[in-house]
Amino acid sequence: MIPPAFVHELLTRVDIVEIVGRSVELKRAGSTWKGLCPFHGEKSPSFTVTPSRQTYHCFGCGVHGNAVGFLMEQHGMGFVEAVRDLAQQAGLAVPEEAGQPGDREEAARQKQRQLTLNDVLARAAEGYRRNLKASDRAIAYLKGRGLSGEVAARFGLGYASDGWRGLASVFASYDDPLLEESGLVIAQADESRAGDGDDDLGKKRYDRFRDRIMFPIRSVQGSVIGFGGRVLDRGEPKYLNSPETPVFSKGRELYGLFEARTAIRQRGHALVVEGYMDVVALAQAGFENAVATLGTACTAEHVQKLVRFTDSVVFSFDGDVAGRRAAGRALEASLPHAVDTRTFRFLFLPEEHDPDSFVRELGAEAFEAAIAAAVPLSRQIVARAGEDADLATAEGRARFLAQGRPLWSALPDGMLKRQLLGEFASRGALSVDELAVAWRAARPGASAGVAAGRSSMAGRPTSPSRRARPPMRKPADRIAWMLLLESRWWDTLGAADHATLCAIPGWHGELFRFLDREAAEHGAQPWAALRERLAGEPWAASALALVDAEDPAIEPLAEDLSRSLEQLRAAPERQDAMRVLGRI
Ligand SMILES: [Zn+2]
Repeated sequence: MIPPAFVHELLTRVDIVEIVGRSVELKRAGSTWKGLCPFHGEKSPSFTVTPSRQTYHCFGCGVHGNAVGFLMEQHGMGFVEAVRDLAQQAGLAVPEEAGQPGDREEAARQKQRQLTLNDVLARAAEGYRRNLKASDRAIAYLKGRGLSGEVAARFGLGYASDGWRGLASVFASYDDPLLEESGLVIAQADESRAGDGDDDLGKKRYDRFRDRIMFPIRSVQGSVIGFGGRVLDRGEPKYLNSPETPVFSKGRELYGLFEARTAIRQRGHALVVEGYMDVVALAQAGFENAVATLGTACTAEHVQKLVRFTDSVVFSFDGDVAGRRAAGRALEASLPHAVDTRTFRFLFLPEEHDPDSFVRELGAEAFEAAIAAAVPLSRQIVARAGEDADLATAEGRARFLAQGRPLWSALPDGMLKRQLLGEFASRGALSVDELAVAWRAARPGASAGVAAGRSSMAGRPTSPSRRARPPMRKPADRIAWMLLLESRWWDTLGAADHATLCAIPGWHGELFRFLDREAAEHGAQPWAALRERLAGEPWAASALALVDAEDPAIEPLAEDLSRSLEQLRAAPERQDAMRVLGRI
């Protein structure tokens, strides 16, 4: 656990001017420092860093906070991650990590290995960049795609030369196992490869990327974690990515997120496209807020990463069959994250286009218009449910409702979910009540049975008194109870809520930081599993008392969680938390 006293101590040891100065160009102005705000678009600096208070403040958009808050907002880190990052810079050990010495050593070893791999990848990126400068053919290719040198530099584009051991000129030892571990070099066992002419080399090692334009993939913090490579003309495969390595997992990373962070805030939304060439071409056309998945469908993990930076996401899909399929996956990935304060929209390009070709042929304005006309999530859900369903027949309506139910059920409780229930009912020619019963919906004014009906203990007799329980204690207690029972909800909360909850002094904050760490390291877990894991914590008894005091037939509802968070905003705990975060 991270004691608030440690956070205070940490904040006195780090220099906020230095932390902010890494991503914002600051100029001294008397006793403060000024720069262009990274959180909103501006031409004259209204973003101020005050060393005496160790805080930043923007007079333009009102953002405010300390070093922990800055790392969380600018780099999308969680609270624990931000504290660890700062502690490392300050040379302090985070007290909660002073657990098993074995664990600590293992963690340190792993961290060291990642740093080493990042370093190897960064050097390769540098080598690829040098190659690009020397290759007229590669330069001509990029120019032919309409890319300026400026955009190529912004994304660190490079070129992997057309030889089997191009990286031998970058690294002192081509036999270094790190080259293999980082995915740059392929080592082949014994089987001979026909026609590559290198049979005399005892062990076959060769560059994974050859004769390709290289796109370095960066983590949100900016280190190179892998590469995407695209052929210059014909050749297969057209796109090649780094394999999974200790620092790179393609189901989790988004190409361009590091470069797009500021523009995502300035434009108010993120644009998700299918390929890295699209990201770069869109940046060239002025859409610097685009990111791409890496040859995989969009996952819930991708969406979770994005919603740390913005409440509004537009998915753009190519107009072909593969694009339609990708849209289906993105829809499913967004559903659990679609709380009422977020919007997800779907942009379908004309059949012959991808974003790159669209923006080059039709221009930025046409693309802007296409974004404005993107289909909202609610319409996409109804459209998806209506696939191959003829609403003029009872059979078609039944199919529509059967296809719609899992999509609807995946939505978090809230107003959008209620609205959609009405929409499904009217298209399915049922009353809202009938559909609600069929889908076991929780509705406003629904009495007694709703909570029990959703419960696995539905066989127990329901009494109205169960529903009319006394309002449970403080909002922080209620939130803790709900998140312990439904730990998957942790990831549906925004960065601001995460920060507030984790900063609450006392055992509540410790519990929320525990949940944050568990969510990051193990994902959502059922209560039975969490109960085991929290057993050794000093606050375990308080947490167990919360859960055990509640009638087990009562299940938390997501709308109660939003209500409790709302109530927390007015509670004294929040004031205390804001003080820890340096926001008041
Ligand atoms: Zn600002």
